[in-house]
Amino acid sequence: MEQQKPYRVLLYYKYVHIDDHEQFAREHLAFCKELGLRGRVLVAEEGINGTVSGTVEQTQIYMDTLHKDPRFADMVFKIDEADGHAFKKMFVRPRKELVTFRLEEDINPNELTGKRLSPKEFYEMLQRDDVVVLDGRNTYEYDLGHFRGAIRPDVESFREFPQWIKENFTQYKDKKVLTYCTGGIRCEKLSGLLLREGFKEVYQLNGGIVTYGKDPEVKGQFFDGKCYVFDERISVPINQVEHVIVSKCYYCGKPEDRYVNCANPECNRQHFCCEECEHKYKRSCSKECREHKRNRYVLEMEAKQRDQEKQNSEVGAGV
Ligand SMILES: [Zn+2]
Ligand SMILES: [Zn+2]
Repeated sequence: MEQQKPYRVLLYYKYVHIDDHEQFAREHLAFCKELGLRGRVLVAEEGINGTVSGTVEQTQIYMDTLHKDPRFADMVFKIDEADGHAFKKMFVRPRKELVTFRLEEDINPNELTGKRLSPKEFYEMLQRDDVVVLDGRNTYEYDLGHFRGAIRPDVESFREFPQWIKENFTQYKDKKVLTYCTGGIRCEKLSGLLLREGFKEVYQLNGGIVTYGKDPEVKGQFFDGKCYVFDERISVPINQVEHVIVSKCYYCGKPEDRYVNCANPECNRQHFCCEECEHKYKRSCSKECREHKRNRYVLEMEAKQRDQEKQNSEVGAGV
């Protein structure tokens, strides 16, 4: 048996009415800080959505405390073991909505949502030929990894979905549509939206990709690449049976699933980059970015060189 790692990363959400969510957010932030957790929690009138990291003990107290609150008594926590924190700070932010379509009339998943499928049921549905699989995430998440054969919506944020569906997806109204996202929260609304748009049979992967990847029976099968996560890990593995790399190095085109941010601090563009090209192109997505006067790659290399010279001179001086 593998030894348990000292830290855990939790991912969770619950659509449930929260009175005075701004007050709740302030109190929750104080509670998280006192516990020593780090992460990002969103609180809205419609519920809570968070991902936090902490020691096994801290995260256990956190889960137990929330489960004692009747509003969150049945909230599911997805747990990943970790060697350390996955965040630098702790934020709890009040929001108007947990995930945003910016519709005039929002979807309430407690009233309208697709049928929930367990990982096993989803796995079986994936293998039918009368289903359409729709990725409920953004292009940069899809590009790192996705279910085999899934449709890649051309959206850079969730609020673009309603428009995208109207323009690109209505031909599947009579098909069985399967949706999935990272942890399940976005699909609760996305599948509801599809139903409201007149789609007849809509299913969602309960607990999302991360739950699918932990299922002992399906072992993440049919998920190609890695799953994008919104913390310092950037990605987590899902498929325990085979690892296919679906993404390519931005510069040389070799299969590569390392995401880096452009070294130009004013660009920050996330792109796939192999180690060789990182040095060759200074981790910069264009000539302008490479020549930017505050290029982080250049600054890092200069700092490294200074350290090296300092060490050398100390050795030379017999220190
Ligand atoms: Zn490369
Ligand atoms: Zn750039």
